[in-house]
Amino acid sequence: MSSSDERFEVIVVGSGAGGGVVAGELAERGRSVLLLEAGGHYTAADFTRWESRAGHDFWWPIRFAFPASDGPAAALGPVTLIGGRCVGGSTVINTKVALRASHRELDKWHAATGVGLTREDLDPYYERVERYLGVRERTDDWDLKPCVQTAKRGFAAVGANLEPTRAYTDHNCMQCGSCLQGCPTNAGKSTLNTYIHRNWLGGHLTLRPNSLVRRVMIENGEATGVEYLDAATGETRLVHADAVVVACGSLSTPQLLMRSGVENPNIGKHLGLHPAQFVFGLFDEPQDAHMVAPISSHCFDFAADEDGGFAVEAVTVQDPIGFTVSLCDENGPMWGEPLVAAARKYRRWVGLLNMANDDNHAGVELDETGRERFSCDFQPAELDRINAARAFSTRVLEAAGASQILWSGLATTHMQGSCRMGADPSRSVVDRDCQSHEVARLYVGDSSLHARTLSVNPSLTIMALATRLAEHLDSGAGGQLRASGREQLVA
Ligand SMILES: Cc1cc2nc3c(=O)[nH]c(=O)nc-3n(C[C@H](O)[C@H](O)[C@H](O)COP(=O)(O)OP(=O)(O)OC[C@H]3O[C@@H](n4cnc5c(N)ncnc54)[C@H](O)[C@@H]3O)c2cc1C
Ligand code: SF4
Repeated sequence: MSSSDERFEVIVVGSGAGGGVVAGELAERGRSVLLLEAGGHYTAADFTRWESRAGHDFWWPIRFAFPASDGPAAALGPVTLIGGRCVGGSTVINTKVALRASHRELDKWHAATGVGLTREDLDPYYERVERYLGVRERTDDWDLKPCVQTAKRGFAAVGANLEPTRAYTDHNCMQCGSCLQGCPTNAGKSTLNTYIHRNWLGGHLTLRPNSLVRRVMIENGEATGVEYLDAATGETRLVHADAVVVACGSLSTPQLLMRSGVENPNIGKHLGLHPAQFVFGLFDEPQDAHMVAPISSHCFDFAADEDGGFAVEAVTVQDPIGFTVSLCDENGPMWGEPLVAAARKYRRWVGLLNMANDDNHAGVELDETGRERFSCDFQPAELDRINAARAFSTRVLEAAGASQILWSGLATTHMQGSCRMGADPSRSVVDRDCQSHEVARLYVGDSSLHARTLSVNPSLTIMALATRLAEHLDSGAGGQLRASGREQLVA
């Protein structure tokens, strides 16, 4: 182990939607910030439509949440957990949909942990993030692409609203559909090509990729720095700071807190999965649903629990490997000749992506050997929403003229809530300022904070909360950093 006298005002661990924004905002305001990221540092030049390479280099190796009991949810099998592992985190490989949480959802947060955050509290932070990323309504593909026309026909036929989504993609988006392999044009705004590069290239931010943080150092109830493995040299390094922000994503943040000895029984509990499922319809003519911005439109008619509890995104299919390995029919996962026949018709399938509301019954644990373990435990109300979503999307595709319907198993890219924020320490891991209830100067700054799963895509809310955290730290209000005396970001 090599020790070090290196010191920063703030260390941020993880560079995704949460960590990238906290680090960028603080660096921009003159704070000395070290950003540590387990994955590599890639740029648009590396992002080609090479599915297996992207899965290897930019994605965290795929993980699974296994059913916790033999109940009705067990029949659905494990849920596939997908996230990024590179500078920019999951924002590098995501589809850039940018939606605000509703009043209804923030009420759920308050009921869960007494957090007391309203839309009025969050709106100025949403506005700042939207301005920074250039969020706009996506109408480019609206009248152009055959697969979008097909989806519009189906939604209209069942009397449901399909509307263009809002996204952080600019007008250089060539609708190539390869967002999950990283954006080759930089039209898709990740934290990599915005908050991080802007400050790193300007010399304001110290960025260390390939740096896996193993523990937060804690002395006398205060975080004092971190220990990380420098993959380039194989050395273990210690770095010190006035405040440490953990933003490793909802699957890894709770693990890092546990490995650091933070004792709070809520760590790793109340994980939300926002389970997603593709429903595919086969059409007579080529649809080329892999050559359109995924996602360009959505239907939120059923988003409230009392209306069905699900949302549907359109139009998309994964690239050929992901598409083929995910296919299921009434006999379960497909194989053999029927699978080959379906894969051969790749250009004629149109996919709708369902996302069901869940009630945060999943979890993250370390087993007796210290290895990660993920569980899910969907209850009947959650299963009803998943099934209702599949029935609805089937109806839409059939109404549009699909001659065959297939679907995928459950997966998620929207894990949230394993270290939730709240005013009540018995129901939460961090307080309203995102600081650990047990350890001073230790903060959480990512999707783990969400007290309940959102029914909309979560990244804009993660970024808004991260902006709020950066503002809090920079103000010096908590006493962790010297007061800046600067005007607040938004308040
Ligand atoms: C394919 C896909 C599509 C999506 N589409 C959308 C969308 O359209 N709209 C939307 O709102 N959301 C979308 N999301 C979800 C959104 O991107 C995530 O919710 C969000 O990025 C999560 O932010 P985070 O900061 O919690 O974690 P991440 O963005 O995942 O970042 C965590 C980072 O921490 C790093 N890390 C983990 N452990 C350590 C460690 N010990 N030391 C150092 N670094 C570590 C990881 O490598 C990773 O880079 C999508 C996600 C995926 C995967
Ligand atoms: S569809 Fe647009 S945002 Fe997505 S990778 Fe292609 S150019 Fe980038």
